[in-house]
Amino acid sequence: MKPKSLLYEGKAKRLFETDDPQILWVEYLNQATALNGARKDAMDGKASLNNEITALIFEQLKRANLQNHFIKKISKCEQLVEKLEIIPLEVVIRNISAGSFAKRLAIPEGKPLEFPVLEFYYKDDDLDDPFINDDHVKILNLASNQEIERIKNEAYKINKALSILFEAIDIRLVDFKIEFGRRADGTVLLADEITPDTCRLWDKQTDEHLDKDVYRRNLGDLVPVYQEVLNRLNKRFD
Ligand code: ADP
Ligand code: UDP
Repeated sequence: MKPKSLLYEGKAKRLFETDDPQILWVEYLNQATALNGARKDAMDGKASLNNEITALIFEQLKRANLQNHFIKKISKCEQLVEKLEIIPLEVVIRNISAGSFAKRLAIPEGKPLEFPVLEFYYKDDDLDDPFINDDHVKILNLASNQEIERIKNEAYKINKALSILFEAIDIRLVDFKIEFGRRADGTVLLADEITPDTCRLWDKQTDEHLDKDVYRRNLGDLVPVYQEVLNRLNKRFD
């Protein structure tokens, strides 16, 4: 299989069509962005780390019967995925207060939440990905009631599986963002990526940030931090 026409170039990856209309070729990019792309830096080594991390996590989720778009990793920075119609929602689950949630609700960063809090953001760069509720999802025709239920159920299950996975490597899963898409037959399944770009990961012993906040908050070099996450995952799953 070979990449054909470029379908989309995003902030973290490029998507190419392939000979098979149901399969996309994804190339991860050596680039970090923040503030909706307003801040952007080249970052050697990040692409291969995220490609490997997301491949490993999506494989583990499949083993736990959590369907997702991942097919296979084909090179250091590339993988094949099922082509889906992406539902333009950023689905966020939070286990510990942090980031925009901590700020908006004045709940101190680091406070464990009594139960996982699920949020929807409308994936729209021009609107700056606003926070929305179920009624907004329906008014905007983004997903049906049935799809909203499926997305929520899957998101909670993914949270459980990921929390266990990270706990085993001494990492607390603070929060994360996922995306879902539809197959032609209407099945809704997990898509995009799960990496330190899209999760908040804190070392269990030291609370050290092992995620993109290192870049967002200028806490140091991002690549060695992502390498540490991959090393721990490899040690556990190799
Ligand atoms: P952004 O769009 O935020 O800049 P990326 O660089 O990660 O982010 O771009 C990847 C794009 O690919 C995202 O818009 C995402 O919704 C989309 N995508 C992820 N998985 C799939 C898939 N399986 N089928 C189609 N599109 C996908
Ligand atoms: N997130 C993401 N992409 C986005 C916005 C958020 O992957 O466009 C992730 C982020 O890494 C964190 C979670 O979603 O793990 C919650 O982010 P938050 O709403 O706190 O936003 P932030 O503080 O990053 O602006």
